[in-house]
Amino acid sequence: MLAIQLAHLRQPLNGTVHVVEPRPVLGPGLAYLDRRPEHLLNVRAPNISAFPDQPNHFVDWLHATGRPVCENNFCPRQTYGRYLQDLTASILAGPAANGLRVEWHQQAAVGVEASSQQKATVRLADGTEIQSDMVVLALGNYPPPLVARNGLSHPGFHNNPWAEGALRNIELDDEVLLIGSGLTAVDVVLGLRADGHRGLITAVSRNKWWPVSHQWYDAPYPSFYEAKLRGLHTVGEVVAAVRQQVRQAAEQDIPWRAVFDSMRPHLGVIWAAWPLVEQARFIRHLASLWSVLRHRSPPQNDAALHELMATGQLQMRSGRVRGIEPAGDMLRVEIERQGTSTYLTPQHVINCTGPLLDYTRIPDPLVVQLRSAGHLQPDPLRLGILTDEHGALLNAVGEASPLFFTLGPSRRPAYFESTAVPELRQQAVALAQELGCRWAASQ
Ligand SMILES: Cc1cc2nc3c(=O)[nH]c(=O)nc-3n(C[C@H](O)[C@H](O)[C@H](O)COP(=O)(O)OP(=O)(O)OC[C@H]3O[C@@H](n4cnc5c(N)ncnc54)[C@H](O)[C@@H]3O)c2cc1C
Repeated sequence: MLAIQLAHLRQPLNGTVHVVEPRPVLGPGLAYLDRRPEHLLNVRAPNISAFPDQPNHFVDWLHATGRPVCENNFCPRQTYGRYLQDLTASILAGPAANGLRVEWHQQAAVGVEASSQQKATVRLADGTEIQSDMVVLALGNYPPPLVARNGLSHPGFHNNPWAEGALRNIELDDEVLLIGSGLTAVDVVLGLRADGHRGLITAVSRNKWWPVSHQWYDAPYPSFYEAKLRGLHTVGEVVAAVRQQVRQAAEQDIPWRAVFDSMRPHLGVIWAAWPLVEQARFIRHLASLWSVLRHRSPPQNDAALHELMATGQLQMRSGRVRGIEPAGDMLRVEIERQGTSTYLTPQHVINCTGPLLDYTRIPDPLVVQLRSAGHLQPDPLRLGILTDEHGALLNAVGEASPLFFTLGPSRRPAYFESTAVPELRQQAVALAQELGCRWAASQ
């Protein structure tokens, strides 16, 4: 999206954007290079255009390419992937109107060095070196952190449900245990259901919550940020103000979802107004509830889950998975709840705990090198990378790099909500403008 935004800048940009991406197609990335049509976007089609100033762009593309109307406006993620692929193809095809060329290197970047204050050299897996004036880390979501070293070599243990070919060895009658009950677990359940799975599926989660469902409401709720939230510096104050607003709205039959959605443009500033200790408090006590309420699931997903729960094929257990041991063809899973352990022995265990974003633990050689050279600082709450307001990486003494930038989920320390397309497309616009200005200044 950043490359697309750079190609759409009005100013002349006589240069090249090198996009380094090893996947077989460019654009969709992990989330949208999805082969399963039952995996849906959790954002409605009119809200997920690549261009914030052209909200109908994705919907127009759906019509122009003759795609069927999506149920409740939630399209398959693979459809969105095709949209991104089409947009990317248009910028790869030739110089943009502003003169920018885009070149794709279909391999991994394995190292990067700052050769001076003005240039970095990026090394690719085949040894190619690219000299660049600015390097943007758009690294996205890394596979979930390892939950069980012991189970690792067992064919029934799936630490990364997004890996190519993962979950293919699950037989229809196998018993399956999911660690987590968030959006990844929902995807896995929907995939199993579409395959005609008959075996028991148990989701183990600390809170026993599935993501709540999206529901249509008529009118947007008016923003109350300026009147009630600006200037609040503690989680407690914000929670109290939001609760009061939800109560007031309920008295007028306005759903809480509308109140929450009205805060969306301000979530970044609310988060940034909290000192670190308050941010840590939020993560400890509220982040999992927030994620359930904020990152909602399409209503048809919710209906499918309830149908499976009603038949007893899908169950939820509260607790934490403490250990996983191979036990012949099965896996022995220890689940701890309030100091007591119980054990289940499914054929398959799937880690649905979500992406790893702790940059102290990310093993990608590129990240390791940037970290050890001091160019990349993980944040103290282990949410992503420390940056300035433009996305420039901060070094150990807090100086912003003139060379290295980032956008996407890595910017969670700045905004907390830095995951979904509506936020990320905005980051792409802002960073493109910033890089465009620096580019112009350096000519
Ligand atoms: C399964 C899943 C479903 C999601 N569904 C939704 C949704 O429905 N709606 C929504 O709004 N958001 C959704 N998201 C959120 C998602 O974070 C964003 O929508 C968006 O896809 C993030 O894009 P990105 O380009 O930052 O990251 P990615 O799409 O993950 O792209 C990062 C790319 O960097 C590449 N890369 C990493 N390291 C290197 C290296 N060293 N060298 C070269 N390339 C490298 C990877 O191959 C990868 O393709 C979903 C996320 C996931 C994981």
